[in-house]
Amino acid sequence: MQMAEQILSVAHLEKSYQKRHVLHDINFSIAKGEVVALLGPSGSGKSTLIRCLNGLEEYQQGTLTFNGEEVTPTEKNWQQLRQKIGMVFQSYDLFPNLTVLDNILLGPVKVQHQSREEAKATAEKLLDQVGLREYENSYPRQLSGGQKQRIAIVRALALNPELMLFDEVTASLDPEMVRGVLNIITELAQDSNMTMIVVTHEMNFAKQIADRVLFLEDGKILEQTPGKQFFEDPQTDRAKAFLESMD
Ligand code: ADP
Ligand code: MG
Repeated sequence: MQMAEQILSVAHLEKSYQKRHVLHDINFSIAKGEVVALLGPSGSGKSTLIRCLNGLEEYQQGTLTFNGEEVTPTEKNWQQLRQKIGMVFQSYDLFPNLTVLDNILLGPVKVQHQSREEAKATAEKLLDQVGLREYENSYPRQLSGGQKQRIAIVRALALNPELMLFDEVTASLDPEMVRGVLNIITELAQDSNMTMIVVTHEMNFAKQIADRVLFLEDGKILEQTPGKQFFEDPQTDRAKAFLESMD
């Protein structure tokens, strides 16, 4: 299939931690507006892979191309790239001594040198979208886990990224908090047409949003399959077994 404009391409990526080789010949691209679910068993290398995409992990071989330009992996380039590639993790690590609003404004004002007024207008609009505007002057400790995770998503979006990476953002939440966070990501995918790579153990959610699934096992991409097809008829026995284990 001929794809639209590619935002990110990964070619022949190899990654080891000391002697442990954890990613093997990783190749994939993601097109503008596409949602890719990165699925696979625990320890298969999902977090390592997405951390390589914004320079949080070094890799030994391979190339990354972002918006048509090959990324030279220097710290300076990663810092620039991290303003275009937002990431949200399992732990939300908001600064406890800053209000919700100041947590969100830190990147846009300090890093991107937006005016506080401009950044605040964007932040408040995003807070409205996630239903948390009334908490802008609260501190993180006054929020539930689900609310903190929604703020962490807003904080990443406030930089106006071109690509979002989500790594098991609901894994440490109480069950009743999960839906609210997943709904925000779903809206981002469907209404805002955000390009994103999503690592999740929530299979119904993945099924709902994934245009394509990358199935990773032992550091190798075993299949790249359109979302609908992956969940109905995965191509590999390993993926089939994985899906059965997730039921
Ligand atoms: P997943 O996110 O799919 O659970 P990870 O990317 O966290 O997988 O881990 C892939 C492999 O790399 C695992 O074998 C894990 O033990 C190993 N690993 C992850 N982080 C480190 C690290 N900082 N140092 C050494 N080994 C690591
Ligand atoms: Mg992980």
